[in-house]
Amino acid sequence: AKDAGRNRAQWFTPEMDSAIQRRVDLSSRLRSALKKAEFTLHFQPRVSLGHGKVTGVEALIRWCAQDVGQISPADFIPIAERNGMILPIGEWVLFEACRHARQWQDEGNVAVNVAVNLSARQLRDTDIFKLVVRVLEETGLPAHLLELELTESMLVHDAARVLQALEALKEIGVRLSIDDFGTGYSSLSYLKTFPLDYLKIDRSFVVDLPDDLNDGAIVRAIIDMAHTLGMKVIAEGVETRAQLDFLLAHDCDEMQGYYFSKPLPQDELKELLRRKRKL
Ligand code: C2E
Ligand code: CA
Ligand code: CA
Ligand code: CA
Repeated sequence: AKDAGRNRAQWFTPEMDSAIQRRVDLSSRLRSALKKAEFTLHFQPRVSLGHGKVTGVEALIRWCAQDVGQISPADFIPIAERNGMILPIGEWVLFEACRHARQWQDEGNVAVNVAVNLSARQLRDTDIFKLVVRVLEETGLPAHLLELELTESMLVHDAARVLQALEALKEIGVRLSIDDFGTGYSSLSYLKTFPLDYLKIDRSFVVDLPDDLNDGAIVRAIIDMAHTLGMKVIAEGVETRAQLDFLLAHDCDEMQGYYFSKPLPQDELKELLRRKRKL
């Protein structure tokens, strides 16, 4: 009993206690964050290497919590997935992203794609097709300007149902992409089953380019494979000219990263689109 007591005391270190406390705290704060209008969207431009222009943007959620300040989506999205708030939050992101994209189009900018990150639970627990159709109708955004970013693991569970939903989305013109490619499940068979338009190479393969020969070989292989399968490739996390040159030399179609632009608040993005679509 003495031993168990000691173990328990070790288990609840002050650091762990506060980490758990923080999760509980964030979880309850998340429940009221939508009502309090604490979320905003930022948009990161994506550049086509062919003509050097902005082809689209990725919508990324930002949370400024009362009395706490900015909290990273890497921290709160997993918590929102667990407590279910990802469903209303994800719906809000989809609606806002489409509303903004429609606005940019109306204001005379050349049509810009908007990419929205989906979470696993949005595929599992909602009728994603019905939701997307409703949001497109309400915002008036043409379906071909919306792109949905999925991760590999989402295509593995309940694959038949997910496939049906994604094929229906594809049918109406929505674009589909695989995010963080290369970091998820090892089977690649889903690549020939699902109607995917883009493959986004994860930043971890880009960061050490061009010096790391293994990463270079992996990136080249991914690009070749994607092109053979009729998909376009986007490299994530491009920060240097040397990375850009490598990707350009190996036929990567589009790039995203701090080298071109950080994610921008909506007014700054609009300014950038108005000024020049060229970065
Ligand atoms: P992600 O979808 O892979 O998004 C890319 C992340 O990399 C973003 O972080 C972006 O700001 C960052 N990034 C872009 N370029 C560079 C670069 O050149 N260097 C470096 N170091 N980082 C770069 P962010 O905005 O903090 O988002 C983190 C993750 O949170 C996202 O990863 C995504 O998984 C999730 N997330 C963000 N917004 C949403 C959302 O609206 N819905 C869902 N379900 N998940 C979201
Ligand atoms: Ca993404
Ligand atoms: Ca990513
Ligand atoms: Ca490496």
